[in-house]
Amino acid sequence: MVYSHTQLETYERCPFKYRLLYLDRVKAGRRSIEAFMGSVVHVTLEKLYRDLLMSRLPDLEELNRFYLDTWRNSYGDDVFIVRSEYTEEDYLNTGLQCLGDYYRRYYPFRGRGRPLWLEKRVQIPLRDEKGRQVSFIGVLDRLDYLEEGRYEIHDYKTSQLLPSQDVLEEDRQLSLYQMAVEAAFPDVREVELVWHYLVFDRELRLRREKDKLEQVAAAALKVIREIEECRDFLPRESELCDWCEVQEHCPKRKHLYMVAKLPVRELGMDRGIQLVDEYAEWYARKREAEERLEEVRKEIIEFADFHGVEKIQGNAGVVSVSRTRRPVIPAPGSEERGRLEEALRETGKWEEVCALNPNRLASLVLGEELDEESRNRICGLLSWEEGVTLRLRRAPQ
Ligand code: SF4
Repeated sequence: MVYSHTQLETYERCPFKYRLLYLDRVKAGRRSIEAFMGSVVHVTLEKLYRDLLMSRLPDLEELNRFYLDTWRNSYGDDVFIVRSEYTEEDYLNTGLQCLGDYYRRYYPFRGRGRPLWLEKRVQIPLRDEKGRQVSFIGVLDRLDYLEEGRYEIHDYKTSQLLPSQDVLEEDRQLSLYQMAVEAAFPDVREVELVWHYLVFDRELRLRREKDKLEQVAAAALKVIREIEECRDFLPRESELCDWCEVQEHCPKRKHLYMVAKLPVRELGMDRGIQLVDEYAEWYARKREAEERLEEVRKEIIEFADFHGVEKIQGNAGVVSVSRTRRPVIPAPGSEERGRLEEALRETGKWEEVCALNPNRLASLVLGEELDEESRNRICGLLSWEEGVTLRLRRAPQ
């Protein structure tokens, strides 16, 4: 029972991706350039601090050279760029900028603390409510010792998004690392969490009290319990899918991924593309036909009213016009609906007029609204039939 922050975050964002990576052990064959740039910046900052521990301060030029060499030696075809308006060069320069800003901000690095841990793998034992031990693992970027039992946990971020204080308050990763530090050093009096948002040249800080740490640990254990109880691991699409490294294994993205890799001359030969284009064409014709049908329907009704007829002869057949009256049911939850239902119950005819809604029933038994016992009981009384829905999102013209 070993989990990492990345595992929990992956599950929260997309249970299917979690299943692929951590249960099916699918190897991600590619990495986003953002992740690649982040890892090269991390390695370079680690080198800086390792040199400092050896009483050696590399100048910025040397550090940049190290960064560029690491980049060029490890960049490969497996690195992909989502934001096509930017090039590899742009990302490489962003990393350089991050390092330059960081170097100038902290130079000559004789500041507050002395590094104790660099890129250190830590393990935090947690105990769930059943008493089972769960290990939480992670790699701590840097731990500094200040003085008199004061420690700082540093984390480098190359994200293009600067979090608000509220988002920071919800942090799980560094809070759990704080527990690892407190377990490792009995002299701990105070721990501060420090994030370096390098793209913005900003340093964000947070202190965590014991009760907050306990809440974070309890919340992490809750996610772990959800993972262990999860049966379906459904894909959850979001804007992050474009950056997903396992798209080629995901039913939501597999075909899109495959087509994106096809040479232009082969696009027309793909059966999926042919079918979607045909579907889109017939769908457009259907819409057009429905609109015209509605216009003709209205004209027929006007014709019937004007001539006082209920049957109209055509070459293709006869149209009968009959009028019916159907009650309009008040909206669910409204006062009128409540009164109507009550009145129907009093007549003893409620069972005849109320109908179960299959869509609502499905969301009820598949969702989180019911307790497990009720859900199992109702599920046991249902049989299921498979249905397929197609939804067409038109490509931009
Ligand atoms: S592409 Fe999206 S939905 Fe599919 S596994 Fe990746 S994150 Fe999940």
